[in-house]
Amino acid sequence: MSLNLYKKKRNFKTTPEPSGELKPSQESRFVVQKHKATHLHYDFRLELDGALKSWAVPKEPPTEPGIRRLAVAVEDHPVDYISFEGTIPKGEYGAGTVQIWDRGTFDLKERTEKVLSFILHGNKLQGDYRLVNFKEKNWLLFRVNPKK
Ligand code: MN
Repeated sequence: MSLNLYKKKRNFKTTPEPSGELKPSQESRFVVQKHKATHLHYDFRLELDGALKSWAVPKEPPTEPGIRRLAVAVEDHPVDYISFEGTIPKGEYGAGTVQIWDRGTFDLKERTEKVLSFILHGNKLQGDYRLVNFKEKNWLLFRVNPKK
């Protein structure tokens, strides 16, 4: 886990985004940031290993079971990014506006290289969710049907 790629992509003299360091913590928080960049997308981030594991989701994350969203793994972000909202200036990586769409905590149920299972406790996203890696950086994000 490293933030090298995150730092390499950004100029912190220009962008208001946090430079940040790895911050090991006992917390398990998540955030979804609506990012109006070249293409509107939703950045889904889970606090793991002192950083935010991040995926770019081209459409709104599902609140109900039955909808699967593509989630493309992107570079780890610093934990301080969890509260970031603002405008990334033109010419910078990810130029556009970032707005928190949902946030909360999660309980991690399972973690392998290809599967993350967790329960989200957010305002919009609540319940059993899964991220499944199917090809390279491509994952599927979906809510799992509650067990009957
Ligand atoms: Mn983004």
